[in-house]
Amino acid sequence: MLEKEHRQIMERSTQVDLDPNEFKQLGYWLVDQIAELFSQMPSRPLTTKKSAEEIEQLLNAETHFDNEGQNAGELLKKTVELVTQNSLYNGHPGFMGYITSSPVPLGALAELLAASVNPNVGAARLSPVATQIERQTIKWIGEFIQYPADAGIMVSGGNMANFVGFVAGMRAKLGLEIRTKGIQHLQKAPVVYVSAETHTWIQKAMDLFGLGTDHIRWIDTDSNRQLDTEELEEKINEDLRQGYLPIMVVGTAGSVSLGVVDPLKSIHNICKKHNLWFHIDGAYGGFAAALPENKAIFEGFSMADSLAIDPHKWLYAPLEVGCTLVREAKYLTDAFSYHPAYYQFGTTEINFVDYGMQNSRGFRTLKVWMSLQHLGINGYQQLIREDIALAAYAYQLFEQDQDFETGTNHLSITTFRYVPQRMKGKKDEESQSYLNQLNQALLGEINNSQEFFISNAIDQGRFLLRMCIVNFRTNSKIIDKMPDFIRNIGENLDSKMSQT
Ligand SMILES: *Cc1c(COP(=O)(O)O)cnc(C)c1O
Repeated sequence: MLEKEHRQIMERSTQVDLDPNEFKQLGYWLVDQIAELFSQMPSRPLTTKKSAEEIEQLLNAETHFDNEGQNAGELLKKTVELVTQNSLYNGHPGFMGYITSSPVPLGALAELLAASVNPNVGAARLSPVATQIERQTIKWIGEFIQYPADAGIMVSGGNMANFVGFVAGMRAKLGLEIRTKGIQHLQKAPVVYVSAETHTWIQKAMDLFGLGTDHIRWIDTDSNRQLDTEELEEKINEDLRQGYLPIMVVGTAGSVSLGVVDPLKSIHNICKKHNLWFHIDGAYGGFAAALPENKAIFEGFSMADSLAIDPHKWLYAPLEVGCTLVREAKYLTDAFSYHPAYYQFGTTEINFVDYGMQNSRGFRTLKVWMSLQHLGINGYQQLIREDIALAAYAYQLFEQDQDFETGTNHLSITTFRYVPQRMKGKKDEESQSYLNQLNQALLGEINNSQEFFISNAIDQGRFLLRMCIVNFRTNSKIIDKMPDFIRNIGENLDSKMSQT
């Protein structure tokens, strides 16, 4: 009875495949909308003014998931409207917040193709060309930034890329036994050294991988906001005396807040002396190592045992894609490889499931691979170089302007704050606290303006406005508008706030 019913499923009762003509029609229409989106980006509002609650209500009113499905064409139309009308555009020329880049349009097409072929890049056999494309991309990235990568893996972003390097370092320094016995079998507590400016991924890593955040040794930064290597040595020696087990130092190449590159060469020397793993977090700044003029500040960059770098930052790849590179492939397999009976993938090919945390893996590399070839080494160098030059230009503008005070300028990050002229030179606590409040309020209004979007940094007690340029659509004309734009809002706010 049952068998007969099964045999009758000759045609599936739910229509999934679109008729080829319908697919084309919808696809062409969608591409038209996207092309318009890109070409009109400069004249669009940068973001929506709707609150999260208003958007939630809008979705509840406009969309539904019912017993019966809906027409694909109508659905697509409504979706394009909802998504394009209610988003923040990091591809807008005025977007300079956090470290989120404008996405290369070719990346959108690459994602469409990747999703259509849908290779599972966990195993070479399941993704014949995709696995080799990922390996080739890793090789190209290594060559571009002059890091001698023996192997690497694409992951979802900087946090994950740092985790992969971190676990590889843990396994290499604590021995493979911890994979079976756990860290409980260790006689001494492992400790890891980072600068005070290190991104918060280190806390997640120490927490998630069982070492505990109490075993992070935060090293102060010096007057250049770089990791203080003297203090690093002192802390290592003290930990050794106290019976801890130093295993790793994290150097940052482009700190998330100010863009500072740590003294990588000195850190490497200390790592060598004490036999520690040297991991570099280059999620943001790593690609700046591709510029010959940055050779001096990146000295030691190529000495890292593992390196995290984010193509979805300075390669302008659409989210998400991060990358871990290692000096020896075995660091990854030693940390991540298992061979269960149900996976007979063979041992002659590289299977990315052995290199990282994911099992099924998407083809997130395609967009990176395509735009590397599309823009070329010169194209990318020039884009990164100009982002850096624009940030320096902004610094000069604010430096010369009487209503502003500059903070820092490293790589493509510039910080500054609005200081009404009557408050210039006032160092007392009350004035500083007022300026902090004023600039915090100012940030809120700038980001609501739909013209510019920036973020903030806290540096030496000062609340600073922070612009980070990883945006190929911005230019000096846009930057020229910023001082007056910010001054106008600042004057208004100041006259309101100073009265109360
Ligand atoms: C952005 C960033 C991260 C986190 O990367 P995601 O891609 O956001 O996960 C880590 N470290 C640094 C230095 C970063 O700039």
